Amino acid sequence: MELRRGKILCTLGPASQDKATLKSLLAAGMNAVRINFSHGAHETHRATVAEVRALSRDAGVPITVLADLQGPKIRVGMLGDAGLALDNRDPLILCPEGTPRDEPHAVDIDHATLGAEVRVGDPVLMDDGALEATVVAVEDGRIHCTLLNAGVLHSRKGVNLPKTPLTLPSLTPKDEDDLRFALSLNVDMIALSFVRRAADVEQALEIMRTEGARVPIIAKIEKPQAVEHLDEIINSADGVMVARGDLGVEMGPEEVPIIQKTVIERCNARGKLVITATQMLDSMIRNPRPTRAEASDVANAVLDGSDALMLSGETAMGVDPPNVVATMDRIIRRMERGERLWQGPRDDMGFGHGPNAIARSAVECSSSLDGNAAIVVFTGSGGTARLISDYRPKVPIIAYTPDPKTYQSLSLYWGVIPRFLEISEDREDHIFEELDLAVQRDGFVPHGATVVMVMGFPIKARTSVNLIKLHRVSERLPAD
Ligand code: PGA
Ligand code: MN
Repeated sequence: MELRRGKILCTLGPASQDKATLKSLLAAGMNAVRINFSHGAHETHRATVAEVRALSRDAGVPITVLADLQGPKIRVGMLGDAGLALDNRDPLILCPEGTPRDEPHAVDIDHATLGAEVRVGDPVLMDDGALEATVVAVEDGRIHCTLLNAGVLHSRKGVNLPKTPLTLPSLTPKDEDDLRFALSLNVDMIALSFVRRAADVEQALEIMRTEGARVPIIAKIEKPQAVEHLDEIINSADGVMVARGDLGVEMGPEEVPIIQKTVIERCNARGKLVITATQMLDSMIRNPRPTRAEASDVANAVLDGSDALMLSGETAMGVDPPNVVATMDRIIRRMERGERLWQGPRDDMGFGHGPNAIARSAVECSSSLDGNAAIVVFTGSGGTARLISDYRPKVPIIAYTPDPKTYQSLSLYWGVIPRFLEISEDREDHIFEELDLAVQRDGFVPHGATVVMVMGFPIKARTSVNLIKLHRVSERLPAD
């Protein structure tokens, strides 16, 4: 079947972290998983990552593991299975630790100094804005609110205060701890929530330096301050996520579409990974089919230029996670079959120089070949494959790498098919032959087809990309 270029990132949760469901998700087209550190214990995450790695190994298919740190998200405490039913105009008292909590509408809130930071009249949005309240008084550190609509407040739901200047650090002590733990699990990427400035990304980079483990950092754009400092954040991070859930609460849903388009455009122009996230197929948490608006949303996120689309509640706690992935897979493929996505090679990045010029030229070469062509890359760090992906070639990018980390992490990049390939030192001078054999073995292109090989040559020099070769895949495999 034809390769899908846009990638699917699935948030794992109670509905999807067992072996059988993971296997079905992979069969349906999942390329990457998100481990959400807002929920679940470290030991659960350890077991889930082990399960995903075993699946990847058994299936011979890469799966990127993204660890998403909670960030400074304020949450309510435990409210029992039924939650707390609230009516319009009901009082609600938010009680930081150490304050009394004896009225029926008093709930725990996990930000100790909130009482000193809120002002009367500030809006309080709970559960991604499903419940809205306003602050009417602050007494002894407790925040008295009045509900503006009816609904049920459930345990551990998030609380946004878009108008309140909060004193929370971007990387909380829990995040630092989770980051070290995630690195110890050898995850492939880290996502940072509620990033405000490039300095927040630098802080995570510093921890990676002390841990001696550098993995790509995805900055989640979900605060007005992040939108304000978008360029510096894009420059400092390896990629970004348009985190539409919190973004819509913090800035209003009407701001989300234009911010999505702007963020994707800037990332595309800068060659950074960009993920569009949240509520993409939301009604499929309950239903077997998406709304037409959701199908259009997925399609438009593809057209906008996303590398990957993320599923959240749909796969974490929905009724049928594999069906959601299969649905998303069909919508993306349908868009990629149409002509609309292929308006010619991207030229807003220019030819650039050095590696950029090589990547761009390789894409240019591949576009003159017939439909069976592919770009075949040999890469250690994955940089060459990522660079070529930036130029959005029409042919697949088959990325052979001897590095197991590169192999897993490339799975999230648009158009890239990562393949694991070890080359012994004495075969490094025969790299063209080795790649020729590998391409034949993997059956990505028919014998006799011409592919564009791209790499840093000679291999033993470990140089950056400097070679493009038009290579005809030989007809015969030597007898083994
Ligand atoms: P979350 O991030 O699901 O971790 O909140 C995504 C978003 O806010 O859209
Ligand atoms: Mn969020």
